[in-house]
Amino acid sequence: MEIKSMIYEGKAKKVFATDQDDIVLVSYKDDATAFNGEKKGTILGKGVVNNRMSNFLMQKLEEQGVPTHYVEECNERDTLVKKVEIVPLEVIIRNKACGSFSKRYGVAEGTELSIPTIEFSYKNDDLGDPLINDSHALALNLATQEEIDEIKRLAYKVNDVLIAYFKTIEIELVDFKLEFGRYQNQIVLADEISPDTCRLWDIHTHARLDKDRFRRDMGDVEEAYLEVFKRLGI
Ligand code: UDP
Repeated sequence: MEIKSMIYEGKAKKVFATDQDDIVLVSYKDDATAFNGEKKGTILGKGVVNNRMSNFLMQKLEEQGVPTHYVEECNERDTLVKKVEIVPLEVIIRNKACGSFSKRYGVAEGTELSIPTIEFSYKNDDLGDPLINDSHALALNLATQEEIDEIKRLAYKVNDVLIAYFKTIEIELVDFKLEFGRYQNQIVLADEISPDTCRLWDIHTHARLDKDRFRRDMGDVEEAYLEVFKRLGI
């Protein structure tokens, strides 16, 4: 496949057109940002870990009936994916309280939630990705009711599959963020599943093996990404 010009550069990835209209190439960078771009840095090797981990998990999810944008891994940083129209909602599933949820509701980080929760943020950097509910998303034409229903169904399914998988490598899935896209009249899982987008704690020590180490200046950032990569055994 021929790779053409760059069509988009985001905080952590570049996207290139290909000679096939409905396929793009995603290239993962080591650049890291947090707090809506206020904090910037580099996490050496992050692009490789996120690319390979995301592809591995998306293939697992496909096997379990979750449609994804994944097509083919080209090399350790680059992957061909379906060109989707991203639904401008960040979908967050939580199994334990942490981060913004803990702050908002005054619950200690690590508190078990009685049921997994789902929430949406409106994907809009200028507004700082504000929380949004279903009726607001409908009112703003961000998605249809059918799409929202399907996104919720798939997000909970992803949670079930990932919780079970991470348990086998002694990792607890605290929470994570998903993005979905429209592709040929279907909702498919897009973006990435990585330590940038998930909170992953060691089951025994509760050591954080994710981007919180960067956000909170906890040190051993590269080591945490590599530890997850090592446990995946890919
Ligand atoms: N998250 C993400 N991108 C964002 C915001 C959150 O990937 O722009 C992920 C984050 O890594 C965590 C989950 O979504 O796994 C919940 O994040 P939270 O709302 O607690 O936000 P934070 O505390 O990171 O501001």
